[in-house]
Formats: sequence, C-alpha cells, structure tokens
Amino acid sequence: MRYAAGVDVGSTQTKAVIVDEDQRIIARSLTDTGAYLVRAADRAFQSALDQAGLRRDEIGQVIGTGYGRFKVEFGDTQVTEIGCHAKGAWALIPATRTVIDIGGQDTKAIKVSDRGEVLDFAMNDKCAAGSGRFLTNSAEAVGLEVSEMGARSMDARQPVRLSTVCTIFVESDILSYLAQGKRVEDILAGVHSAIAARTVALVRRVGSESEITMTGGVSRNMGIVAALTEKLAMPVNVSPDSHFTGALGAAIFAMERVLAGPGAFAPEVLA
Ligand code: ADP
Repeated sequence: MRYAAGVDVGSTQTKAVIVDEDQRIIARSLTDTGAYLVRAADRAFQSALDQAGLRRDEIGQVIGTGYGRFKVEFGDTQVTEIGCHAKGAWALIPATRTVIDIGGQDTKAIKVSDRGEVLDFAMNDKCAAGSGRFLTNSAEAVGLEVSEMGARSMDARQPVRLSTVCTIFVESDILSYLAQGKRVEDILAGVHSAIAARTVALVRRVGSESEITMTGGVSRNMGIVAALTEKLAMPVNVSPDSHFTGALGAAIFAMERVLAGPGAFAPEVLA
C-alpha cells in the first residue's frame, strides 16, 4: 500500500491527514499553529505519522496548503487552500457543489464542479470580521470555550441583534448585553446569526447551488450550521472530518501525484 499526506497550516490551527491509495483517511491530527509555522507543520505531520504507525520515508508525496503552506519545509509542493477545500469537500460528500469554509481569520465560498474542481470563489480575508477569531472573542466575553458555544446557543429564546461583526468591537457589544441581563444563549444565537448573515451574502456571490457543504473549524459549531441552514433555506452538510477538509484535499492531490507521477499534476491548482 502507498501513502500520501496533506498538511494545512492555517492561521489558527494546523491540520495533517494521511491517506492510502483508496483515498481513505488513515490518520488525522490537529495542533494550534502558534507563532512558529514551520514547527506547527512538523508537529502535525509527526503526530499523524505516529497515529498511522508510519515513517516519513513511507509517505510518497506531501503537499502543503493553507495560509502557511510555504512553511511545510518537508513538503514536495503546495496547492492553494481553495483548491484543497474544493477537492476535500467533494471527497467527503461527492454531491457537493458549493463549499462554505469558515476558518480562523477568513471566510470563503467556493463553487465546485462534479469532479471537485474550483469553478468560482469569493472570499472575505481583509480582516477577521465574522470568522473563527470573532467566535473565539465572543466565547471569551461570555466566559465559555469556543467548543461550547454551538450547543448553548441552541437554547436561545430571543436572539439579540449585534451591531457589529468586528472582532474588536464585539466584546463591548456583548458586555453591554450581559449588563442588560440578556441570556448568554440569546447573545450567542445573535453572534451566530450575524456571522451567518455575512456568510450568506458571500455565498450569493458564487451562487448557492445544492448541495452545500461546510468546511473549516467553524463547521464544528452547530449553532453556526443551524443559522446558515435557516438563512440559506437549504440543508448544509457537515462531515465529522470537515475541520480536516483542506488537509484531506491536499493529501488527495498528493496521492494523485503518487499514482500518476508529478508530471501528470494539473498545473492550475499549484500555488
Ligand atoms: P485556520 O485554517 O484559519 O487556522 P480552522 O479552519 O482550523 O482555521 O478553524 C479555526 C476556528 O475553528 C477557530 O477559530 C474556532 O472558532 C473554530 N473551532 C475550532 N475547534 C472548534 C470546536 N471544537 N468547536 C467549535 N469551533 C471550533
């Protein structure tokens, strides 16, 4: 059996995935990126290797993706995260035609072909407004972990209206709602609704063709998935591996290189 790996060095978290020849995930790992991107890439890859019980020289090809893709020093090449999210989402849910990726610092909507190729995309990356960082700051303001927000928000009765999706100003908005005695659940639902509204506007730029699949770390927040489903009036797929989609896409591109040889690799997806 031959193996390939993808390493997605994100602004917030670094993910690594190892696949076998049948594109099955045999190991996945997740680590906080921190200040040292080269080390985060190495740590994530080593942890996936340990999980798979493989050595580095048993991995045929490694592809780096994500914001820090050029910091994957042991990688053979790089592919943009847009190409990798399209490929990975298509591999997880083949009917996917639209991908919504909300990560730590940006949001993307990607239109995908029936073969997992990028047809079009729209992106919000000028600031972290309405992205994972906004959620992390909101969670801190109400004294919760980001992993607890989704479930808590599902008990909302009267979601508040936030006046901002600015990562800096959201904290004071939330503190003033807390001071007014608003319930945490209603505040969180307001946070999720604000992000969903902003995301839907981005999705409309590429068209919300079904099926829609959400990728990136924020897909682990069921409150966001519910708010998106409501605002799009369409179901939003989430896979248990959605957080690993970029790394999975990179690993599949890497396996294509293993199987077909580097010369057969589509140049347009190269960074
Ligand atoms: P990037 O690739 O930009 O580093 P990710 O796609 O890894 O970003 O997403 C990171 C974001 O995912 C975090 O900012 C956080 O909001 C969210 N997140 C990570 N883990 C969880 C979790 N267990 N539950 C809810 N949200 C999460």
